[in-house]
Amino acid sequence: MQHISEKWLKRFNYLYILYSLIILALYAVAAFNQQTPVIKNVNTWGMGPGTAIFALSCIIFNLAFMRPVKRYNLWLAYVISYILVSITNVAATELALGSSGEYVFIGMTYTLSLLSITLGPIIGIGVLTISAVITGMVVAENIEPTALGVTNDMIAFGVRSIIVITGIYLLHNKYETSSFGAKQNYIERYFVSNEVVSLLTNSISDGVIIIDQNEVVRSINPAAQKIINQPAKNVIDLNYRSVLKLKKINGTAIEDNEEPILQALKSGKPVNKELLLQVPGLPEIFIDINISVIADEQTKEIYGATIIMRDVSNRKKEESARSDFISTASHEMRTPVAAIEGYIELALNEKVSRIDDTAKKYLEKAKMSTEHLGRLFQDLLASAKAEDGRISNRPQVIEIGKLFEQQAEMSKMAAQQKGLQFEFIISPGGQSSRSSAKTISPLYYVLADPDRIRELASNLIDNAIKYTPSGKITLGLTGDKDVVQFFVKDTGVGIAQEDISHLFQKFYRVDSTDTRTTGGTGLGLYITKEIAELYHGRVWVESEKGKGTTFYVNIPRMNTAQAEASIANDQNSSN
Ligand code: ADP
Repeated sequence: MQHISEKWLKRFNYLYILYSLIILALYAVAAFNQQTPVIKNVNTWGMGPGTAIFALSCIIFNLAFMRPVKRYNLWLAYVISYILVSITNVAATELALGSSGEYVFIGMTYTLSLLSITLGPIIGIGVLTISAVITGMVVAENIEPTALGVTNDMIAFGVRSIIVITGIYLLHNKYETSSFGAKQNYIERYFVSNEVVSLLTNSISDGVIIIDQNEVVRSINPAAQKIINQPAKNVIDLNYRSVLKLKKINGTAIEDNEEPILQALKSGKPVNKELLLQVPGLPEIFIDINISVIADEQTKEIYGATIIMRDVSNRKKEESARSDFISTASHEMRTPVAAIEGYIELALNEKVSRIDDTAKKYLEKAKMSTEHLGRLFQDLLASAKAEDGRISNRPQVIEIGKLFEQQAEMSKMAAQQKGLQFEFIISPGGQSSRSSAKTISPLYYVLADPDRIRELASNLIDNAIKYTPSGKITLGLTGDKDVVQFFVKDTGVGIAQEDISHLFQKFYRVDSTDTRTTGGTGLGLYITKEIAELYHGRVWVESEKGKGTTFYVNIPRMNTAQAEASIANDQNSSN
């Protein structure tokens, strides 16, 4: 069973339906002219009851039987439709023989035999064989030639053969082998018509949708029907995108490279996300969606995917109320804390107040704790914002190398105060370079808010300084044509393997003697991750306990020419 992608089969099938409808319309006109529903005098256009019956059967097949046959075997369904329309055409050609309409139907015959290539070499060569037999019979004078005459019929057959064989040769990579039928049957047998699977999915309260590798919905359980507010019959056999209208949590559209179902089908790996779902006639809901692919265990060939979804709108509402509360509370509490800090500063200032050494010692401790409290409120506020997608973000084209030069200056001072070395390295990375008088430095453009990138880098550098008792901190910048990568490397206490997977969670702090004594909120890395993801980037860590840690961040890189054009454009419009 061979064919090209279903998308094209479907499009060609629309042509067959259209052709059948035109034939029926021609028949209706002829019947009207002859004042009888059953035409007796076949007209120039070859309209007779035979033609109409085949055209009608093609339409009835598409309306009533296409779906069930498709479920059994997709390829067979399109072949039947193709055969019905071909017979309609043959009938019309035969009946129009010797009249002016014949040329139209001969033209259609050639077009249909070309379309047969889409159904695969078997059908294509089968069609050619049949017409070879007919041409042979014409030459042998067993049947009449078409309006073209014997010689032209032979030439036309030769041309057709060359076109069909060339088409089959050009498309040979696009043809799927019998595994397509196997894939359909696998999903059908084990997931769609399997009673145990149906009982199981019908009994669980999470929504379950099964799609095949063509993204077509093959099964949907009652919970999913409730979530999308549609009965099964409205969604089965449709592309899942017309069934699940997904948006990002913040209400913006999802690009294809972030679309979780496509991601899963492409990568073969499970994907879990929280997204907004548009439900017809109801308000949007928040869903937690889990996609796992259905694949052959040995060949890893993907047959389809299981989509499991849960309405988490209530939980989201609670979370939003909680983060609103945290935002307001931390915002309000920062003001008195800043006042306390100010008064302690005044008390410690020898020009303003006179205190003895013991009081000074206590006040210095109070100052440290107040600073810690101030940072905690700031981090709480930032994390509450990150949680509900309110991170302040004014993206612009920025050159990370330049931004980091300033950042490195400040961090170098902080590192040196603790007796640590600090180094900033820019490595070449794929795209064109700008040469200045002394150096040639690669340009690393990204589209992001400079404040957020500074926040992200300083979170990582501050941690490196905090968790490195002695040695060196390196801030590195590199990349390739698609991404800008920077890393913060230290020679500090390191992180145990079991802690690594939790590091980016909120409030997670490694509990060890090395880190317990260092003040922190456990929110910095969570905020760092949220910022990286805001710019479609990612952050990860490599570390060895006792040896040191390297945090890496990848952010999509902007093409230098594009970035410079965009900067020039902004400058022009602001002038
Ligand atoms: P905080 O530093 O405020 O505790 P973070 O979210 O920034 O919170 O970091 C979480 C935890 O990760 C820290 O408590 C620390 O244990 C560990 N950590 C982060 N960066 C480093 C590093 N460079 N070296 C060792 N441990 C680190």
